[in-house]
Amino acid sequence: MKYVSTRGQAEPKQFLDILLGGLMEDGGLAMPERYPRFTPDELEALRSKSYPDLAFAVLSRFADDIPTEDLKALIDRTYTAAVYCNARDASRANEITPLTTLEPDLHLLELSNGPTLAFKDMAMQLLGNLFEYALARTGQSLNILGATSGDTGSAAEYAMRGKRGVRVFMLSPWGKMSPFQRAQMYSLQDENIYNIAIRGMFDDAQDVVKAVSNDLTFKREYAIGTVNSINWARVSAQVVYYFKAYFACTRGAGEEVSFAVPSGNFGNICAGHIARQLGLPIRKLVLATNENDVLDEFFRTGVYRPRGTAETHETSSPSMDISKASNFERFIFDLVDRDSAVLRDLWGEVDAGGAFDLAATPYFARIADYGFVSGSSTHADRLNTIRETSQRYGVTVDPHTADALKVAAAYREAGVPMVVLETALPAKFEETIVEALGRSPERPAGYEGIEALPQRVEVMDPGVAAIKRFIVAHVS
Ligand SMILES: *Cc1c(COP(=O)(O)O)cnc(C)c1O
Repeated sequence: MKYVSTRGQAEPKQFLDILLGGLMEDGGLAMPERYPRFTPDELEALRSKSYPDLAFAVLSRFADDIPTEDLKALIDRTYTAAVYCNARDASRANEITPLTTLEPDLHLLELSNGPTLAFKDMAMQLLGNLFEYALARTGQSLNILGATSGDTGSAAEYAMRGKRGVRVFMLSPWGKMSPFQRAQMYSLQDENIYNIAIRGMFDDAQDVVKAVSNDLTFKREYAIGTVNSINWARVSAQVVYYFKAYFACTRGAGEEVSFAVPSGNFGNICAGHIARQLGLPIRKLVLATNENDVLDEFFRTGVYRPRGTAETHETSSPSMDISKASNFERFIFDLVDRDSAVLRDLWGEVDAGGAFDLAATPYFARIADYGFVSGSSTHADRLNTIRETSQRYGVTVDPHTADALKVAAAYREAGVPMVVLETALPAKFEETIVEALGRSPERPAGYEGIEALPQRVEVMDPGVAAIKRFIVAHVS
């Protein structure tokens, strides 16, 4: 399988060649040059497969430059009940992503049972094993530099801890994360993990990371890499659970299922779009946003207008507080029939800080053919949804999942299962759960009292030179 760039001006590459990189050479995103399709018969043959076997069936089509036995071993090592052990019903942990039925045709897909209690563990854990494998083959090492406001950084650290050839330098805003999130990251004692708390906001940390990454000489000399959400391996690993959920709530060939996805960077729902292109009978892809509704606006009006930090609201579903969706370019590439010239025009506007409007183009009408619909929620909606879900079904959901549950309600159809992706466990967002329910969420076993563990973190002012010095001092 070859990967082309959405911008159409880079050499096609294979899976292992794009694994450690970020953007393609022309600034575009990697996309498979064509989608491998599963026929209805091939799909039915997968119906009773275990999660790792399903993952192999899907990923072997995308990563066909990794020898079969190697890929199989990497997948089997990743998707185990020991890693994804926080299922609501512990006896179902071997399903990796169990489906919880709230009522007939309304289900939650548990994606947050991994070590950091958010869905990012689903792909990031595989990425950790893939990185270690790819680096060992070439004898290289990699220094991952990133900035996090909470979920991504911890998922990356838990995926890379103890991995040979990989170090992680993760910048976070000092004092701005929840005590639980802080404890999760800073209590890691692994030698290859470096937590750097920046006296400033997330954006200050992000600016430092960008400045260091833009110094190409430094980047090359110190093998600086990233694990951001545009990474193709992450997107493709997320395709797998759409298959798993589909089989869990249908009985036979051709039945359709809709999915509702709490969205920020468009990574998770992009995987749903790809699953549909692979032949999975997905009826609707329901995109849910919070008050940061850039994507909802696009799907309703055809206008894509990314916003700046000043226009981005801090909300009670903070992992969706994103106003520029980095994976969105992948969907638009398909929507414009993979015409790179059209795509370059559109992103010329976006990259210059502008917007584009597809309303008057034939592309806009085609959005329906791709199954996309959308909606948004407010803080009050999320509190109501958390309350109602608890009262009606005895299930506590986190505020991100509540976003999707609220938006999904508008798109349910008789006889079509609606699967809501559960992207975090409520334990991660205690404050909002207390506000909604008047009590703290349950904590999975092993997470009690993590705030009291010893923490290992370096506190610094945001400065490019200081971060570079820190990296140099710790890699040599
Ligand atoms: C990252 C994240 C999201 C958003 O997912 P995208 O792939 O960026 O759209 C939603 N919910 C939670 C809890 C997250 O951590």
